[in-house]
Amino acid sequence: MNESAVLTGGCLCGSVRFEIEPPTKWCSHCHCSLCRRAHGAAFVTWFGVEKAQFRISEGDSAVQWHHSSEEARRGFCGRCGSTLFFESERWAGETHIVLASMDSPIDRTPRAHVFFDSHVDWVELGDELNRFGGPTGTEPLEKE
Ligand SMILES: [Zn+2]
Ligand SMILES: [Zn+2]
Repeated sequence: MNESAVLTGGCLCGSVRFEIEPPTKWCSHCHCSLCRRAHGAAFVTWFGVEKAQFRISEGDSAVQWHHSSEEARRGFCGRCGSTLFFESERWAGETHIVLASMDSPIDRTPRAHVFFDSHVDWVELGDELNRFGGPTGTEPLEKE
């Protein structure tokens, strides 16, 4: 691993620290109702990385996993409650990480809105990114 290129992040209380070796695979805003409730936010910005490029460097025992569906689990800090990770059989081999938990910008910016048909109406978006939805959350939607 090239140490200078490693991306780092962590939870609010500092118990959980993690490292990512770029390149990451994608970055997008998720508007699904599960993310909304789990994070207490209008939408959540995630990026994906191959599991082999992701490592919890500190506080592995502090990470708690909640199964939010049959095939998916969400990782959070059991001490401060920060929501951090997502893993699902649908994206086997990938870990999804909350962009807001990173210490500094990563190697890409958000490129899309997914599960946009369940977005809240109390936030107005001003960007031109493509919007996706439907049962999978990733089918193209018409711009409003
Ligand atoms: Zn914490
Ligand atoms: Zn979501």
